[in-house]
Amino acid sequence: MTTAAPVKTQYEAIIGLETHCQLSTNTKIFCNCATEFGGTPNQNICPVCMGLPGVLPVLNQKVLEYAVKAGIAINCEIAPLSKFDRKQYFYPDLPKNYQISQYDLPIAQGGSIEIELVDEADNHRRKRIGITRLHMEEDAGKLVHAGSSRLSGSTYSLVDFNRTGVPLIEIVSEPDLRSGQEAAEYAQELRRIVRYLGVSDGNMQEGSLRCDVNISVRPVGRKEFGTKVEIKNMNSFSAIQRAIEHEIERQIQALESGERIVQETRLWEEGNQRTISMRSKEGSSDYRYFPEPDLTPIQVSDEQLQQWQAELPELPAAKRHRYECTLGLSAYDARVLTDDRLVAEYFETVVAAQANAKLAANWVMGDITAYLNNEKLSITQIALKPMFLAELISMIEEGTISGKIAKEILPELLSQGGSAKELVERKGLVQISDSSELEKIISEAIAASPKELEQYRNGKTKLLGFFVGQVMKKTSGRADPKITNQILLEKLNNQAAGQK
Ligand SMILES: [Zn+2]
Repeated sequence: MTTAAPVKTQYEAIIGLETHCQLSTNTKIFCNCATEFGGTPNQNICPVCMGLPGVLPVLNQKVLEYAVKAGIAINCEIAPLSKFDRKQYFYPDLPKNYQISQYDLPIAQGGSIEIELVDEADNHRRKRIGITRLHMEEDAGKLVHAGSSRLSGSTYSLVDFNRTGVPLIEIVSEPDLRSGQEAAEYAQELRRIVRYLGVSDGNMQEGSLRCDVNISVRPVGRKEFGTKVEIKNMNSFSAIQRAIEHEIERQIQALESGERIVQETRLWEEGNQRTISMRSKEGSSDYRYFPEPDLTPIQVSDEQLQQWQAELPELPAAKRHRYECTLGLSAYDARVLTDDRLVAEYFETVVAAQANAKLAANWVMGDITAYLNNEKLSITQIALKPMFLAELISMIEEGTISGKIAKEILPELLSQGGSAKELVERKGLVQISDSSELEKIISEAIAASPKELEQYRNGKTKLLGFFVGQVMKKTSGRADPKITNQILLEKLNNQAAGQK
């Protein structure tokens, strides 16, 4: 009998995300101050967002519309009646000493989104992530830590209230995520959704999309959750993934060495690629929530709800399914093409103009994306109209031009626009597919290279490529490659045979 090796405990991570997303309204949530990013500090403020005595906040109806649309898009129930509450805490960037948020009656609850994890080899799996709730709230101001003053020798901070009262939605997920990769994909899918809806720019660098992660680990098979730790301060999707992977590892090591995990907030340090403790976590009861007395309850009528529902565009997950099932694209292609709604719409217009979907996908994801990246352009800024890309693709399929020629003229089409067909005709780029014309050119090419012909005859058959190159050179790449190969092989082999 063999002795069994000691069984190593397997752990699983339980992860949930709280995502704050800035709504792209022109004005703040309860006043008419502008929401533009990057203004002069304290330029966009007024008595309402400063919380001066005697002012009355009024809900911006665009905020409600955007929050409801986001709620519908993540499959939530929209509350027919909801309300605002005051969340009390003291912090220098919060002039009222409370934040207007939603507590027990959020605008949306009980939804889910589908994430799709896919790699370049097209291995993919789908997973549904539950959404606990979505609520509206106002943002706080921003502290600028100015460091040490050389004059006084003291350290000081400045406060900018431009962001105070900027509308946010907070989306809280169920603890359904199990890895850093799933969490990063979930955050990306949320961003795609709000961008598709046009309710947020989702810009992480400017703080329009901010994710806080709640994470605990437990031995596989155990029902109870471990102690959860919150991580903040990640400003990219890859940082979310790496912070979680680091934290899972840290918590497992702590448990293995018999340490106790403390409930706390930790910060992701991008430079050191690790999380560090920031503060122990306060409970939600500390906020002493109570209903906001200055705002009336929010009512969304059925008619209003139906109207907003009807205004929703096709969402990313539905597009991915359609691209796979109806257009026959791979999961990977579908995912890449639908990442940006404008790219997806360009691609769909090309396909609607009768282009082969797979070829259109290759052009959009390949040469066109490379061009956009190089020139730092968005797809709406290129001159090539989708119908002319469709024309270009048809010309390749019909053998009018080679794929190589198409690639060569693409930059001109992208920057100048116009018809692909006209450009090909004007430049005399039509492919030579006429056998008798090609035969003549090929005979000349062979006659001009007697040395290579002899080597070919002596068995160095890979010189076929050399002869193809000569023919392409003589025709400026216009020779039909398939027919050229055929004729060349025939001629070279005949000549070779004739010598024996
Ligand atoms: Zn204001």
